[in-house]
Amino acid sequence: MQLIFATNNPNKVKEIKKILPSHIEVTSLREAGIEIEIPEPHDSLKENASEKSRTIFNLTHQNCFSEDTGLIVDALHGEPGVKSARYAGEPANDEKNIEKLLHNLKGNDNRNAYFKTIISLIWDEKEYWFEGICKGKITQEKTGYLGFGYDPVFIPDGSSLTFAQMNTEEKNLFSHRKKAMAQLLKFMEDVPVK
Ligand code: IMP
Repeated sequence: MQLIFATNNPNKVKEIKKILPSHIEVTSLREAGIEIEIPEPHDSLKENASEKSRTIFNLTHQNCFSEDTGLIVDALHGEPGVKSARYAGEPANDEKNIEKLLHNLKGNDNRNAYFKTIISLIWDEKEYWFEGICKGKITQEKTGYLGFGYDPVFIPDGSSLTFAQMNTEEKNLFSHRKKAMAQLLKFMEDVPVK
């Protein structure tokens, strides 16, 4: 089975490829030779995920999926949420986003947060959604250099390490994206083989 993963983020591709069974082949946009900046204009992760998968489906007419992820921080009333990528403004910049997050949480003891991923799958021209959540805490400072995005400041519940201190396999033991993908893979077990 073949699926295009509608993302330009190589880190997301790497994480997802690590958990695929051998009969499912995922092709990144780059590998599919598709050069496109996919829009994320909506106020919800679900709508943004749909926008991305539909954009690629309309272009290729192939089975595909996309995902949108947000970091939801309790003490910031859910911010940065759906705006996580551009929290510190345009163009998106991980360093600046982390700086702003730590600044806004300075002196605040409530460090509870979670990542939420919504996957939109277009399979046989129909759309399906899957969700994964990873609860954890925001650190006081950046720790670790692996991963991407907010990984250096996020410790998942059940670990004492930030995501940026974990390799991909270790991150996948906890990750929101892995959980959403596990739902997608479960769904794929029941679809007719092509
Ligand atoms: P998007 O899903 O690519 O729009 O990501 C939204 C924001 O969350 C971006 O700043 C990403 O870098 C960040 N992000 C997405 N997934 C993760 C993750 O697994 N760890 C850390 N940051 C992430």
